[in-house]
Amino acid sequence: MVAFVTSPEGLPVVILGAGLTGLSTALHLRHAPYLLVERGQRVGGKARSERRDGYTFDVTGHWLHLRDDRVRRLVDGLFSAGQLVEIERRTGVWLQGVMLPYPFQANLHGLPLPVVRDCLVAFMEAQVEAARPGVAPPATFREFAERRFGRGIAELFFVPYNTKLWGVTPDELAPDWGSRFIPLPEPEQVIGGALGLRQEGLGYNARFLYPRAGGIDQLPEAMAARIRGRNPEAIRVGCAAEEIDVVGRRVKLVGQDDWLEYRALVSTIPLPQLVARIPAAPPEVREAAAALRWVSWRYLDVATRRAPPLREHWVYVPELHVPFFRVGVYSNALPAMAPPGAGSLYVELADRSGRPDLPQVIQHLVAMGALHDAQDVAFTELREIECAYVLLDDAYGPATATIHQWLRGVGVRACGRYGAWIYNSMEDSIIQGMEAAAWAEA
Ligand SMILES: Cc1cc2nc3c(=O)[nH]c(=O)nc-3n(C[C@H](O)[C@H](O)[C@H](O)COP(=O)(O)OP(=O)(O)OC[C@H]3O[C@@H](n4cnc5c(N)ncnc54)[C@H](O)[C@@H]3O)c2cc1C
Repeated sequence: MVAFVTSPEGLPVVILGAGLTGLSTALHLRHAPYLLVERGQRVGGKARSERRDGYTFDVTGHWLHLRDDRVRRLVDGLFSAGQLVEIERRTGVWLQGVMLPYPFQANLHGLPLPVVRDCLVAFMEAQVEAARPGVAPPATFREFAERRFGRGIAELFFVPYNTKLWGVTPDELAPDWGSRFIPLPEPEQVIGGALGLRQEGLGYNARFLYPRAGGIDQLPEAMAARIRGRNPEAIRVGCAAEEIDVVGRRVKLVGQDDWLEYRALVSTIPLPQLVARIPAAPPEVREAAAALRWVSWRYLDVATRRAPPLREHWVYVPELHVPFFRVGVYSNALPAMAPPGAGSLYVELADRSGRPDLPQVIQHLVAMGALHDAQDVAFTELREIECAYVLLDDAYGPATATIHQWLRGVGVRACGRYGAWIYNSMEDSIIQGMEAAAWAEA
């Protein structure tokens, strides 16, 4: 039997999933009683951290980029003065044995001169072509990259990097998937960067915040502490939603006989999993859910005995023969992420299955300066993210529209990165929680 506190006004808002979206929803509910139900044993979802032998690792880099004043106020209020550090991004691109500043498209200097020349010529041709009247918009992400940056830059960076990251070619990706996140430098910046004038600070994430004590999980834990301070019963961990009866407005939890009635349901669990838990979902909604694709991926936590030679916080690695696409050094941002003088890293692997070739990975890490040598590795752990990125292909727009329209009609709000089925940031998730709370109380 699930015990939860209901107010005399009636039934609770039930929130599925205690990642940042679910936690933010709960935090922003002012009047309605609520119950936050989390399948895992801890809150945080993707924004959680693992600790071992004095090393701390997140679910790969989770850097907090805040632009919204409401979120900034909320986050500032959760931490006391000095507990959050603001850090200026140091990011690179490792290509052809050279460490270039990020973004690649504005920092070609350092590559062999004929390569730089070819990239610049193709970039200028693409600019001329784009200015022609009546040019049709790009149909795929590959077309977007070629038309915006030219073939050279697309072939050296955008095509291979995105192939490794998504596990499909950019021909299968929607043209605008990264529109908010990909820096679009002006011609003078591309040319300046090719000549050696470093173009830094471009893009949405030039600065980020991070908890001084180490571990992004400090953020969800602080949110959960505030929620529990109001109502110690409001969060249930180790408690998964099994079935949803949208007609009777009730949820069945795994291992519980009784159903939990709700006044409104906010779901942050992956959208296809939500639909699969609603027997009343009509065939067109099930069909739409079956069309949704996602990318699982694997990464390594790497603990090093010495601090890595690399100064960057994270590095993009586009070349297909290198078995990873991004490497980050948590301890370069926050030394507290590793024991004194040591390092903690994440390595995002291009292969989705099979045993990773660890010696090969280490050899490439040494080559790029992420490790001094193989003896420097204290331990590694292989981890998997079951649903990391929602695949933004042609099908996802119409399919998500069909599902959300139906869900709205039956009083369910599916939100957050996996609930809404989008590409988003932690800040976006917190904002979606605010909006879900307003919806539930409206
Ligand atoms: C690899 C990677 C790197 C990222 N890097 C950054 C970054 O640097 N900066 C940034 O701002 N953002 C980053 N993000 C995005 C960020 O992680 C998300 O925006 C945010 O954490 C999503 O929160 P959420 O609550 O919507 O989803 P989740 O965190 O996935 O939370 C959903 C919760 O639902 C629970 N759940 C699932 N099924 C059930 C069930 N049946 N019943 C009950 N509970 C259930 C899950 O256990 C989970 O806790 C990154 C994401 C990934 C995958």
